[in-house]
Amino acid sequence: MKRTVAFSRDAVNVFFHILTGCNLRCRHCCINPDQHGRNQLPIEVIENWLGAFSGKAGAANVIFLGGEPTLHPELAAAVRRARALGYQSVTIDTNGYLFNDILDRVTPAEVDYFSFSLDGATRRTNDEIRGEGVYDTCLSGIRKARARGFEVSLIYTVSALNIHELESMAPILADLGVERFFIQVIGIRGKSAEGSHHLQVPRERWLSVVPPVAERIADMGITVTYPKVFLAPDEPFLCAGLCAENYFIFPNGRVYRCPLCEDFPYHALAFEADRLVSTPRLNESDFFQLRIPEGCVMNRLVQPDNLAYGEDGRPLYQIACCMLKEEVFKG
Ligand code: SF4
Ligand code: SF4
Repeated sequence: MKRTVAFSRDAVNVFFHILTGCNLRCRHCCINPDQHGRNQLPIEVIENWLGAFSGKAGAANVIFLGGEPTLHPELAAAVRRARALGYQSVTIDTNGYLFNDILDRVTPAEVDYFSFSLDGATRRTNDEIRGEGVYDTCLSGIRKARARGFEVSLIYTVSALNIHELESMAPILADLGVERFFIQVIGIRGKSAEGSHHLQVPRERWLSVVPPVAERIADMGITVTYPKVFLAPDEPFLCAGLCAENYFIFPNGRVYRCPLCEDFPYHALAFEADRLVSTPRLNESDFFQLRIPEGCVMNRLVQPDNLAYGEDGRPLYQIACCMLKEEVFKG
């Protein structure tokens, strides 16, 4: 079965970058220290900032991110604080290195998912993108987490470098016992924005590979989520900035509503002295209001290579909000 995950104001999703430091140097890393800071947040600050989003009791989800969040020695305390505040789910995104004995310091009752990143079905492709030795370490980390009883999800960021191996992920996911598979699309920001835009996958290739592979993996009993990216002619465009509660927090205090704005000082909110405040206009909120024939305004500005126009100069299709997802599961 397939369903489009609708935007909702009923849930709050907090993507919390508690530090930007990382042991890896992935080719497509979206962290931009000039814009996001280089600091590691003290646990007291993490706890305070978590409190700013816990108002919707039981409807807030937090995803701890970095950099590599397990490099933070107080991550376990942050997890427990999120639980105490009533967050309905807690996820830790990790590159698989699982520093600071994190598996020994939290329990499956406290962490809903450890979410690992792997960007190739083969050692060669993954390590070309993420660094030598990362493939083996990540698979070993997944096995350790499963052996401790944690639920595990896996994120695969599709780009021109690895789309040819997406299908080959199926047996690997089954072998590892992964419950959820998140297919991401490469974003042209952070390191990806430094070179040419050759990492983006053309529309025809995306549509011919991603949805059918997602269906086949879902048939194995694994829930698969992937971004819609390209809207069909009859599908309405919606901007999550206007109709959902997503917050992307960085350790320098910036809080974005849209990930495509993260390379720019357009954040709508910021923490000042531990208080969440609105930033002066113009900011990303002003972009959310704009209506253009291409769909997402920020996509048009920062990664326009995925657009195409007819002879009359009109776009041939709209680009969806980057947060609009399809979820496929065995019905
Ligand atoms: S993508 Fe993640 S694991 Fe890779 S360098 Fe960036 S923060 Fe580290
Ligand atoms: S990706 Fe585009 S549509 Fe989505 S929140 Fe950002 S500006 Fe809005």
